[in-house]
Amino acid sequence: MLPPEQTPRRRIIELLTGTLLSSHQLAQLLGMPERQVEDHLTHIVKTIARDPSRTFLLEPSECQDCAFAFRDRTRLTRPSRCPRCRSEAITSPRYGIREQEAR
Ligand SMILES: [Zn+2]
Repeated sequence: MLPPEQTPRRRIIELLTGTLLSSHQLAQLLGMPERQVEDHLTHIVKTIARDPSRTFLLEPSECQDCAFAFRDRTRLTRPSRCPRCRSEAITSPRYGIREQEAR
């Protein structure tokens, strides 16, 4: 038996490999709350960081009003407000996993 946490994380890793998805899309695909997806993602980032054959990709959130990109953000969740124009129209970040080419 796998520990109960293991299976959704594996599913998320499979879903993210070779593509980019938001936590909202993942939540729908997995049928779990977005908050829970974000918890899993935090652990997945660490797992992937230890794996030299894979890279975790984070497409940053962006302000829809002034196009400010949250590039320096280390948290995975969507920021609530733009620091430049104070807009709350912020896109969700998207995540992906890239596998290294076999050599
Ligand atoms: Zn803005």
